[in-house]
Amino acid sequence: MVKAKEYTCIGCPIGCPLQLVHKGSKITEISGNECDRGAKYAKQEFTDPRRELSTTMEIVGARWRRLPVKVTGPVEKGRVLEAARRIHTVHVTAPVKIGQVLIKDFLGQKGIDVVACRTMEAIV
Ligand code: SF4
Repeated sequence: MVKAKEYTCIGCPIGCPLQLVHKGSKITEISGNECDRGAKYAKQEFTDPRRELSTTMEIVGARWRRLPVKVTGPVEKGRVLEAARRIHTVHVTAPVKIGQVLIKDFLGQKGIDVVACRTMEAIV
């Protein structure tokens, strides 16, 4: 049976309304996109949806108690909550430099790390 799904492209501020037509797992048509990025986005959302993840991590010995962090690659949509919880169970100790790898190969994904989004000096 032919079905359709609708997405809004997040590739740029235009936000094109996308329609993806599929028969089971086979994509038969993608429309509504003004450029190729929209088609690529709809295909990704249909086959393997992922989300960028930025959150905070506990930091000890710094002026503030939470350090902004991000995951360097998109996380499977179904694992975003697990990913956030995992980050919230660990802490780092100051000083931390922006870009510093805090968790390597996060969730078993080689080359995907959790990194610091800002520098925090140690307080004395
Ligand atoms: S399809 Fe292209 S033009 Fe439309 S929102 Fe996506 S990136 Fe922007």
